Amino acid sequence: MSVRLAHGIGDPPADRPVAAVVALGANLGSRADTLTAAVEELRLLPLTTDVRVSTPIETVAVTLAGEDVDAPRYLNAIALLRTRLAPATLLRELHRIEAEHGRVRREKWGDRTLDLDLIAYGDVRIEEEHLTVPHPRAHERDFVLAPWLQIDPDAEIPGRGRVDALLAAVRGGAS
Ligand code: AMP
Repeated sequence: MSVRLAHGIGDPPADRPVAAVVALGANLGSRADTLTAAVEELRLLPLTTDVRVSTPIETVAVTLAGEDVDAPRYLNAIALLRTRLAPATLLRELHRIEAEHGRVRREKWGDRTLDLDLIAYGDVRIEEEHLTVPHPRAHERDFVLAPWLQIDPDAEIPGRGRVDALLAAVRGGAS
């Protein structure tokens, strides 16, 4: 099978499909249309099947300074997929999809037409310069945990625990 990837051959594919979790966010432009188009792009990825997506939720923008109620609000969703793409290859594909939707990386944490983050890749843990998995802030983000729980009630973040418990903790409901 021929595999077309964003940049060259990429890392070797995994032997078996891995359950990966991708967070989608948009706070500029036609947000719902952008998320729909991005999910279609995920469905077209090589070596990738079973893409399922949560209902989008609307959230307040989070910046380096904390929540910014004056910034355009985000639509956030979570996509689950099964893929044999290696994690770094998957991240490159996510960056390609972001770029195709006009995201300009002027400012970290700034407004964006489309933000895609790799939240988890099976049980794998990666700490490299350009890729940390599980995503280092996923466990403290309501806008990641809530839509994820919606499509996978038993979800867990490796090394952090169950998503339902993490969401309760974020919302101050933990005992
Ligand atoms: P951001 O602008 O917040 O989307 O951050 C993008 C930067 O974070 C890129 O340089 C990525 O290489 C890096 N990065 C590290 N780990 C991840 C991850 N799990 N998902 C997405 N981007 C990541």
